[in-house]
Amino acid sequence: MPTQLECRQGDIANQPDMDAVVNAANAELRPGGGVAGALHRAAGPELDRACRPLAPIAPGQAVITEAFGLPNRHVIHCLGPVYGRDKPEAELLAACYRNALSLAEQHGISSLAFPALSAGAFGYPLEEATRIALTTVSETLPQCPGIERVRFVLFDADSTEVFQRTL
Ligand code: ADP
Repeated sequence: MPTQLECRQGDIANQPDMDAVVNAANAELRPGGGVAGALHRAAGPELDRACRPLAPIAPGQAVITEAFGLPNRHVIHCLGPVYGRDKPEAELLAACYRNALSLAEQHGISSLAFPALSAGAFGYPLEEATRIALTTVSETLPQCPGIERVRFVLFDADSTEVFQRTL
């Protein structure tokens, strides 16, 4: 059965029907703002404690923890590239999506929700980040037979429209 791929507006910290959610992490895997702030607030301080021994991570890398107070089993933490600083940025952003899917497959995760990695504080132009996200996930899913559903969760109406149009 082909994997279901969808884009919808919402909060990545409130995806109770997904096995795992992806964090747009910082290198130190600390709470911070944006996606990381929302996930750490909802997960509680145990998530911060679980992250510490795994930090720091490099751009393109992904690591996995439990999800604690979140309604999911796991959080996969990815460090996207900072636009204009971490190069080659398109390759590093694609590596985030590939590494997250590969970790999910290894851990028996069948449904996974992504935010728009690097498209907030890290400054990646939205249209380009969207194209890389959707292309990389579509091209990687055939190697992940255990993953049945992938959802992109966008915070506002404009980015939801860009994702839906690109999909
Ligand atoms: P990065 O540092 O990788 O750019 P951010 O967390 O700053 O990550 O932003 C990534 C994207 O996620 C942005 O488009 C931002 O608007 C969006 N975003 C912020 N908070 C949430 C949330 N709670 N749920 C889903 N998306 C969010």
